[in-house]
Amino acid sequence: MSYISSVMEEVVKRNPNEPEFHQAVKEVLESLAPVMEKHPEFEKLGLLERLVEPERQIMFRVPWVDDNGKVQVNRGFRVQYNSAIGPYKGGLRFHPSVYLGIIKFLGFEQTFKNSLTGLPIGGAKGGSDFDPKGKSDEEVMRFCQSFMTELYRHIGPDTDVPAGDIGVGGREIGYLYGQYKKIRNAFEGVLTGKGPAWGGSLARTEATGYGLCYFVDEMIKAKGKSFKDATVVISGSGNVAVYATQKVQELGGKVVALSDSNGYIYDPNGINFDTVKRIKEVERKRIKEYVTAHPQAEYTEGSTGIWGIKCDIALPCATQNELDESSAQKLVDNGCWAVGEGANMPSTPEAIEVFLKNKVLFAPAKAANAGGVATSALEMSQNSMRYAWTFEEVDGKLKGIMADIYKKASAAAKEYGHEDNLVVGANIAGFLKVATAMLNQGII
Ligand code: NDP
Repeated sequence: MSYISSVMEEVVKRNPNEPEFHQAVKEVLESLAPVMEKHPEFEKLGLLERLVEPERQIMFRVPWVDDNGKVQVNRGFRVQYNSAIGPYKGGLRFHPSVYLGIIKFLGFEQTFKNSLTGLPIGGAKGGSDFDPKGKSDEEVMRFCQSFMTELYRHIGPDTDVPAGDIGVGGREIGYLYGQYKKIRNAFEGVLTGKGPAWGGSLARTEATGYGLCYFVDEMIKAKGKSFKDATVVISGSGNVAVYATQKVQELGGKVVALSDSNGYIYDPNGINFDTVKRIKEVERKRIKEYVTAHPQAEYTEGSTGIWGIKCDIALPCATQNELDESSAQKLVDNGCWAVGEGANMPSTPEAIEVFLKNKVLFAPAKAANAGGVATSALEMSQNSMRYAWTFEEVDGKLKGIMADIYKKASAAAKEYGHEDNLVVGANIAGFLKVATAMLNQGII
């Protein structure tokens, strides 16, 4: 049995009932076959066995009192995956589907993504099965305070710097930061995604969505194409989807659809960005509200139907495994020629197969959505300097970082015999830097 197969078999055995984690590890390990051929010494050094095992996994009780005076108990997680190239860094996700396997898959992915940014950040992820939907601001605050009352002892500006993810935006980061500051009596850069008035970086809110578009733009430009006049379908209507919508429009594309976990909207005239921003960020309502303001648009129940809409470019920006083989086939049959993953692992392995087989230009999440964490690392730099860059400075750096990630991923794909396959290229380029650092630092 090959080294890779035996490590994979062990991962499945030692981490039962964690299919998302198995899926993420399998994709990376399979991409690394040509690297293992070139570096047989990695096996003796147990590099892959070390890489698939998180450095530290923390699980804790999060008790809080709801508005009716009833005590609720959630489960909190922080997986500090790999610190070979910098302090642990990765978001917190608050969603009922969260369990250890989801956090481990995200932490594993984050390790390679952070490496690709070229910035000194290790990989981590955390969160809780708490559902912020339908909760009052006070309930969210009490939950965040309780969550941080345990988390604070495991994190620090040079140790582990969490950020937002699904269900964790500016409001939650604010409550988490307030509690950390109170317990530690220290105003330090321990979280990113903070408000600009209290240490946050300008352009962090926009960074993942904008970065996705910058990456896809690089990828399609290399093949002589552009966003100009392209019809674009974007899933989700959260932080990533909203700012991807804005950037696609700035680049001359037409976004015709957005979704949430209940359904999707289709506006043949092009989505009105201001309406979406108001509904999602100010009113915190469902995406179906859009049709009230724009009666020419249609709302359809069921979120996966969105992939049946004809488009040139598809940007899945909602959640893992939201785009399966049959949805991928529908996109291809309708003439879609590029896909950029804004969410983490939104396409199933079978869907990716369909895209690659049909020569769809495919931008994998690890590379394409790295703009958020890259800008978080820029926020850490600004906090360390006690200085703030302008929006334009941060956005300019983000653009440069995304172009650089594209170059690295496409060069690695070519060097290892998989030209134009950015899945393989991103995995190899991300891996090599972490592997070198791990080897240099000994068996730890
Ligand atoms: P948000 O919580 O802001 O938004 C998530 C959106 O996805 C919501 O519109 C949500 O709808 C929708 N959604 C969730 N589950 C489903 C589902 N099963 N089907 C359809 N829609 C669904 O999260 P973000 O925008 O921050 O994150 C989106 C994705 O991007 C995640 O995979 C995240 O890991 C990834 N990402 C985020 C980064 C960031 O900086 N924020 C950085 C890198 C990656 P509903 O309201 O109904 O739940």
